[in-house]
Amino acid sequence: MARVAVVGSYGVGLTFVSDRPPERGETVVGSDFHRDHGGKGSNQAVGAARLGAHASLLTAVGEDEFGEGAFELWDAEGVDADGVQRVPLPTMAGAILVDASGDNRIVIVPGALSALRPSHVAEFADRIAAADVCLVQLEIPVETAHRALEVARREGTVTILNPAPAPSEPLERAMLELADYVTPNETEAAALGDLSGAGAVVLTIGAEGARLGDEHVPAFPARALDTTGAGDAFNAAFAVALAEGRAALDAVRWGCAAGAHMVEHPGVIPGLPKRAELERRLLVTA
Ligand code: ADP
Repeated sequence: MARVAVVGSYGVGLTFVSDRPPERGETVVGSDFHRDHGGKGSNQAVGAARLGAHASLLTAVGEDEFGEGAFELWDAEGVDADGVQRVPLPTMAGAILVDASGDNRIVIVPGALSALRPSHVAEFADRIAAADVCLVQLEIPVETAHRALEVARREGTVTILNPAPAPSEPLERAMLELADYVTPNETEAAALGDLSGAGAVVLTIGAEGARLGDEHVPAFPARALDTTGAGDAFNAAFAVALAEGRAALDAVRWGCAAGAHMVEHPGVIPGLPKRAELERRLLVTA
């Protein structure tokens, strides 16, 4: 069985919908509310497990209800969460205010994730060593992401750095050099600037598909409804394909097929394709 180790985030999104956002000091009555599992690390681990890989996750959650809910998700999805840290800080949460025009105002509190340290990566090193691919994002302290790539490289595990969200400062060259693949979207690529030193660059370009170096992989046809999570679906499928020993260009096609599936579904967890769904989509070319 292909094995993917993910080092990244878990968080809960609390979405409040109202006609217009509140002014300072004002309370408005909204029309809808939902609470969703999120965090790029958890999303990508769930995505990998749905595609049939053994997915293990290193993240940190609080000793709170949101933390409990996270374990219920991972249990239901078959994600190996034995390495997840519980810390005395709140689980990452985001308040997402959406108005009638669809514009967002978002506050995110990293909470527990700020306590995810490089020493926790050392405790997870066995899982990284046993994996075919180690997948890392930047919703955790950068030194922790860096350590995960170091451990993976040392253990001979293929590394993917999904540099999301876009870092506020360019990444150290020493960190990029540890990545066999870097998978930015266009915003992240602009924020990262010079990616020389990294292994292959896989640039995702939304409805245009993706690029592996100079090669363009067209998007799969999709009736886009909600593009949230397309990058998470892409990275999960790309990682599983590489873990199964597929060639990089084929793995990018897997990523694109998963991204196309995601954008046709509202929400992120519900839009992560199962193996059979991905395989069906791979047969449909533009
Ligand atoms: P992110 O969600 O990180 O911004 P992208 O928007 O680049 O990432 O989307 C990731 C992948 O999902 C793309 O490479 C593409 O293959 C697929 N995708 C995104 N939007 C669409 C779309 N409208 N139609 C088909 N595929 C899409």
